[in-house]
Formats: sequence, C-alpha cells, structure tokens
Amino acid sequence: MGNILEVNDLHVTFDTYAGVVKAVRGVSFHVKPGEAVAIVGESGCGKSVTAKSIMRLLPEPHSKIKSGTILLNNSNLVDKREREMQKIRGNEIGMIFQDPMTSLNPTSKVGAQITEGLLKHQNISRKEAYQTAVNMLEMVGIPNPEKRFNQYPHEFSGGMRQRVMIAMALVCQPKLLIADEPTTALDVTIQAQILKLMKDLQEKTNTSIILITHDLGVVAEMCDRVVVMYAGQVVESGTIHEIFSNPSHPYTEGLLKSMPRIDMSRDVKLSPIPGTPPDLLAPPKGCAFYARCDKAMRVCKENPPLYEKVGDSRYAACWLHHPLAKNTQTTS
Ligand code: SF4
Ligand code: MG
Repeated sequence: MGNILEVNDLHVTFDTYAGVVKAVRGVSFHVKPGEAVAIVGESGCGKSVTAKSIMRLLPEPHSKIKSGTILLNNSNLVDKREREMQKIRGNEIGMIFQDPMTSLNPTSKVGAQITEGLLKHQNISRKEAYQTAVNMLEMVGIPNPEKRFNQYPHEFSGGMRQRVMIAMALVCQPKLLIADEPTTALDVTIQAQILKLMKDLQEKTNTSIILITHDLGVVAEMCDRVVVMYAGQVVESGTIHEIFSNPSHPYTEGLLKSMPRIDMSRDVKLSPIPGTPPDLLAPPKGCAFYARCDKAMRVCKENPPLYEKVGDSRYAACWLHHPLAKNTQTTS
C-alpha cells in the first residue's frame, strides 16, 4: 500500500539576529496507512519544526521551507496556499499539542470548539455536529458529555483538557494525526491513560500517527516505527524492535542509555550522552554527532555519512556501516 505521508529531503531555516539557523537539514521519512511513527531526539533536534512544516504552521516570515517535498496522499503540501491548508488542517491532518491551554480557546465553549471543525469541513447540520461532538467526548472518556459540551476549557482538569484536544483532533476523522509531546505536561497516571486512549482510538479508526516525543517509554508502548533525529537530520529509522534491541547509530544507542524507560529496573544506571549538539548556525561539515561520538573515526570529521539501508526495514547515517570502516583508524 502507498504511503499516507512522505517527507523528502526537507530543509527548513530560521532567520535570527545571529544568522540563519539550519533547523531541518534534509529530513526524509514516510508514514503508512494505520501506522504509528515516533520522531524522537533531544530538544532542538528539529522534531517539532518538522511537524510544524507538515502542518505548514511555521512562524512566518522568519522560518521557511527552503526545499524538499511533503506529500500527503501524493499531494505536495509545500506548494499549497494558506486557504488550501486551512481545509487540510483539522480535516485531513489532526493535531494535538503539548499544552492544551494554548491550543484551546479559553473564551469559547468546548462543544463549540469541537463542532467548529465539523461545520467548517463537513457538510452537516448543527444538530448532527452536536451529536457527533457529544459522541466524540464520550469516546475520549469524558463523563456527562452533554453537560461538558457547554463548559469552558478552564472548567476541565489538565487531563480532561487533553482529552478534549484529542476529541477535537479526531472529530473530522483525519487520515493523519500529529501529536507533539501530547502528554508531557500531564502527571504520569494521566499520561498513561491518555496514551492508551490515543492507541485505542488509532486502532479503532486506523488513523496514522506521528508521535513526537523525547520519552522512549511512550514510543515502545505506542508506535510501530521510530525516526531518530539529531541536529536537524534523521540519523536512524527502523521498527521499534530493531531500534530498541539493536540500535545502528551511536546516537540512538546513547539515547537508549540516557533515557528512563517504564520497563527498566531500578538498578540500571542512566548515562547521559556527554557534550551538546552542534550549533545549527554553522553545522559541522562531517557527521553532526562527531564531537560526542565515542566510536568516531577519522573519516567522520570531514565527510557526512550517507543515510543508507542497513537492515530489513532500517536506515542509518553512520560511517560504521560502510564496508571500509573496519580498516579506518579510530581517533580515540
Ligand atoms: Fe560516530 Fe562516525 Fe557514526 Fe558519526 S559517522 S555517529 S562520528 S561513528
Ligand atoms: Mg518540541
């Protein structure tokens, strides 16, 4: 089956006082129908910028898609006008953000916010929109949906607001749902409930998901495949099993060692990756991970590694996978 989404060689820049930040540098990945794909990496690696590019919600005029394509069902979103994007957002692509308080309108009743998308995008009556919204509130686990329909966001708890966001994102039955750190602001028990809800709904509706997170525990629970980003680039991608059991890229390996996981025993020591990511005002010439990599070789400093197939369904950008790597002298 074809891909719902295909991002090809995406480059995004930000103009700042200090110069042009190359925030996304040649990112490519795809999402199949019904698939849940995680984008992981440290903050500032370009994962949110990638998500915002897909939705065409980059803050203009300071940030720009410089080149590349973003194909949603083979139609390039990069070429779309804002009016066309307004039809696509909410209707074909649903979105959930970290902080529902910033995405919900505090002055408008929750029900009105959920039906707004329906009335805008779908040819249905107010009565039908009301019924669909109430059903949706019920589906995301909000008790007394008829009463809740007429309440304002501040009358909901953090977890309930996030459920409202999910209801809003899914009410038009989008083919793709983009969730950017959807549970980071919530406490752990609520997080688990919300994630389970997203997973259940995804299975029920066969929606594809892009989940952006720095929490690998969440990824293991929810996703089929992982895309690992570092310094504005994809350094590795593969199935959950491939990535978790045997990472191909030293950065992925470092991430796995540095991040707490639900399934981890208490005695396992976490070891953060030493150093900091490179300055994207002037990205390094060779491998972006060079300065922090304990497996770095001479070739890595000056030459960017190619993003190549290294297994069944996995790809990585690292010189270690080059046939000649074994003969190359290490720097350390
Ligand atoms: Fe490390 Fe070299 Fe691989 Fe980069 S290309 S991750 S520096 S081994
Ligand atoms: Mg972010």
